[in-house]
Amino acid sequence: MTLRIGLGFDLHRLVQGRPCTLGGVQLDHPAGPEGHSDGDAVLHAVADALLGAAGLDDLGSLFPDSEARWKDADSAELLGEVQNRVQAAGWRVTSLDIVIATEGPRIAPARAAMRARIAELLDADPDAVNVKGKSLEGLGALAGGAGVAVQAVCLLSQHAD
Ligand code: MG
Repeated sequence: MTLRIGLGFDLHRLVQGRPCTLGGVQLDHPAGPEGHSDGDAVLHAVADALLGAAGLDDLGSLFPDSEARWKDADSAELLGEVQNRVQAAGWRVTSLDIVIATEGPRIAPARAAMRARIAELLDADPDAVNVKGKSLEGLGALAGGAGVAVQAVCLLSQHAD
């Protein structure tokens, strides 16, 4: 069995009046991530972690924000496409851990739903997908709900048969 680790990071500004979609889940919050797509920073970081581990470049190369067809794209669909490529290359998600740093929407109440949704998109065991919310302690440019930053690390496995 071959194992590979990938790391993903993403950052989006939170703006009033945008739908707040994070981790593939609609959150009840008055501000949402700004972006060319729906701005789901969690799914973007996860996609980059997968692509990194599989050695398949990155999300920005696959879905350039210069292309109109990705405008307001559903990031769940983008991640689904990433998953298809990763799977086609013979990789499976063995473990995924995600940290969501924000003082915008509360993450804890949505954790279970995010884990289930991400596991579904990646055809993975929900126990293998973990989501953690982190406060910014009022520090930095993202404090006060101005943005969301996400780190994701994933382990892919490839089984020789
Ligand atoms: Mg992004």
